[in-house]
Amino acid sequence: MLCEDTIAAIATPFGLSGVGIIRISGPEALEIARRIFQPSNGICPWESHHLYHGDIVSADGKTILDEVLISSMRKPRSFTGEDVVEINCHGNPIVMHSILTQLHELGCRLARHGEFSQRAFLNNRLDLSQAEALSSMIAAPSAKAYAMGLSQLKGSLSREIEDLRLLLIEALALLETAIDFTEDTSEDKVPEIPPQINQALERTQSLLSSYNSARAYSEGINVIITGKPNVGKSSLLNSLIGRKKAIVTDIPGTTRDMITDTINIKGIPVHLIDTAGIREPQNLIEKEGISLVWESLANADIVIVMLDVSNPLTDEDRLIIDKNKSGKLIASINKIDLPRKWEADALKKLFPRETKFLEISAKLGNGLEELKSTIIDLSVSSNDEYAGSVMITSLRHKLATEKALKNIQNAKESIAQGMSAEFAAFDLREAIDNLDEITGNKINDEILDKIFSSFCIGK
Ligand code: GDP
Repeated sequence: MLCEDTIAAIATPFGLSGVGIIRISGPEALEIARRIFQPSNGICPWESHHLYHGDIVSADGKTILDEVLISSMRKPRSFTGEDVVEINCHGNPIVMHSILTQLHELGCRLARHGEFSQRAFLNNRLDLSQAEALSSMIAAPSAKAYAMGLSQLKGSLSREIEDLRLLLIEALALLETAIDFTEDTSEDKVPEIPPQINQALERTQSLLSSYNSARAYSEGINVIITGKPNVGKSSLLNSLIGRKKAIVTDIPGTTRDMITDTINIKGIPVHLIDTAGIREPQNLIEKEGISLVWESLANADIVIVMLDVSNPLTDEDRLIIDKNKSGKLIASINKIDLPRKWEADALKKLFPRETKFLEISAKLGNGLEELKSTIIDLSVSSNDEYAGSVMITSLRHKLATEKALKNIQNAKESIAQGMSAEFAAFDLREAIDNLDEITGNKINDEILDKIFSSFCIGK
């Protein structure tokens, strides 16, 4: 499916750089490039995948705009599957825009966000999950997130989806034999659960469970540090990030705003949020700060409840513990370098059973490595660490996988209950459709446009 118009965009980021790249794709790409390129030795055979040196000149041929290297990649052996020309010019935004203006005057339309990738998808150069992988690689915040994107680009997720489809198609074939038999004999034949259904269930489940870890690597995790004033929240944030960002004082109520910073622990971006100390607010600003804390606790992946072991526990501590009864919790018992006023055992019954208890000194740095490891253990499953595991990295994929899983479970259940094989067959076809949404085998144009519009220009 080749598009009719020719598009162009600057593919490198805005700003000064040694080299900047302008991309052109479409049926007129070569013709338009020929009109503004003057090869330095007077001849340019425009062989595909070859670089040529020369000048870019204005459309009337009178003004030299830049000295460049230019290449063409002929369809279908190009990123978009169309004729593509790439101009490597100098990375000055003024020059690049003047070249783009010439291209526009000669008939190129300025590319929309993600339009090159969209064309690659429409021309079957990539499936949708691979195109999305490209976009996530560009925005990857960690090396692991980049590696996950690369593996998806290389087709790991596409292959897993294809395997799942095949299992479901085989199961469907078995069910359809049972349906035909019933029709031929008017005798009910209750089918067995095809083994492919169980295999597909297991693999879909494991795909789905990879999402939490993948999200941790690609988006990071929100860790909120909460506790009453003066327990050492700001000291902990400062010690973890390795510099003084939050003000540390003995005066309660100093942190009014949320102070955030991101550290990288074992390849995972951890967004730390130091909150206002929770207590009865003494003024309007502190009241605002504390209500922000309650809001943000709802969005936290992990909550660290800090307690000061050098002072008796108070009702303020208990209120905070009470408000944090669900989710992933770390109770961090601080100031262990000072004489203790209570023992950790007294605390355990106040928290849910799964809570992790750690003793630290935010000031001296004791226990911080263990705290970091605990944050990671709570965020990623160790199963995802083994090489080659297929992961789903986007919410869109997760939702489609969840729907497919539900369809397969329904199919299994209806067979187990002895219902007509037609019900299970219907569910399996739905499961295939939902998996096809991931690779873009079956997806409507509106959703496609939405997906590609979140890409950057020039990709
Ligand atoms: P926040 O109000 O919870 O953010 O508490 P801060 O981080 O501002 O700390 C309050 C006071 O406790 C400051 O004087 C810190 O130096 C002190 N502090 C924090 N952590 C420790 C610790 O582990 N040991 C000791 N001895 N003092 C600490």
